[in-house]
Amino acid sequence: CINSSSLQTSLLPPSQRLASNPSKMPPKEQLQFGRVFSDHMLTIEYLSDKGGWQAPKIGKFEDLKLSPAASSLHYGLQCFEGMKAYKSVSDPSDLRLFRPELNMKRLSNSMHRLSKPGYDFDRKELIECISELVRVDQDWIPTGEGYSLYIRPTVISTHPYLGVTTPSSLLLYVITSPVGPYYKSGFAPVRLTTDTEYVRAWPGGTGNAKVGGNYAPTMLAADEAAKRGYDQILWIFGPNDEVTEVGAMNVFFLLRKTDGTKELVTPPLTRGDILPGVTRQSIIELAQTWNEFEVSERTITLPEIREAAHENRLLEAFGAGTAAVVTPISCIQYKGEDIDIPATGDLTRRVFKDLMGIQYGRIEGPEGWSV
Ligand code: PMP
Repeated sequence: CINSSSLQTSLLPPSQRLASNPSKMPPKEQLQFGRVFSDHMLTIEYLSDKGGWQAPKIGKFEDLKLSPAASSLHYGLQCFEGMKAYKSVSDPSDLRLFRPELNMKRLSNSMHRLSKPGYDFDRKELIECISELVRVDQDWIPTGEGYSLYIRPTVISTHPYLGVTTPSSLLLYVITSPVGPYYKSGFAPVRLTTDTEYVRAWPGGTGNAKVGGNYAPTMLAADEAAKRGYDQILWIFGPNDEVTEVGAMNVFFLLRKTDGTKELVTPPLTRGDILPGVTRQSIIELAQTWNEFEVSERTITLPEIREAAHENRLLEAFGAGTAAVVTPISCIQYKGEDIDIPATGDLTRRVFKDLMGIQYGRIEGPEGWSV
């Protein structure tokens, strides 16, 4: 434990006393993202007047009781994570998390960015608590490749007073939801637009933290884009129209350079306006082990992408995130022009197949990726 106030998994009630009843789960083919929830939730309170983190509890999934003055409801003092538990395809009793320590690190960073006093929780302990929740509700994990239990760790301020101040009480809770494959029948490439007056994130902002406040302002932009026939926004920033992210995913471009060699490019995290995606990091690390082309975390602008496309050097583009793993991009609107991209290329498919293979235990991944 980091300190006396950190989480202690030993305080969890014995899981055998908790009965899980997945009879409410619809047939797995009918699952819609985030609509049904498993029987149990993990809750852990942080109370500064009681020394910090309290004993974790796994109890029934139920509504929260919260003061209407709670500062999470007024000032967006809230952050969250998105991860999944998988059943191995060959042995459904083998339950797996994918690189959960990266989600814990990001949660800790998000809490730090919101100046929550308890950001110093013990990450290993929280992974243990989440693992226990997954074990309790393991019958809620649908079997088969593409199916999983989506895990949503959330931290809200329960501080029951108005006044913009560092909260003295928090609730960390984790709910889970069975989900099906993102693509029901083959890849569905998306058409993007950059032509919006809105900006998702900027240096010094919160773009690199997973806080709810980053998402609410994107909905108007997405609605407007949809009305014009585009699926999502490709977010850009600055006078040179630098690419940052797509919708709520990181973004990759496979280019053929003018010297004929290939380069896989994703924008860098250095400016602090991009969420450090677990999928992003995994794709970078995986592609580096292939040693087949250059893998770059570097600034890439829309004029560069447009030029590459016009010269037939833009080979593939895809979004990357936990929900879909990868989403091929078939078109980017920039300054009124639709830049077309060869749809589902070999690299996009290979990344998809390899990452899923590791997540479902079909492929032995790098050390420590499956927990
Ligand atoms: N960017 C944003 C804004 C996101 O919401 C997400 C999904 N959490 C990602 C990128 C991808 O992150 P990950 O690969 O960890 O799911």
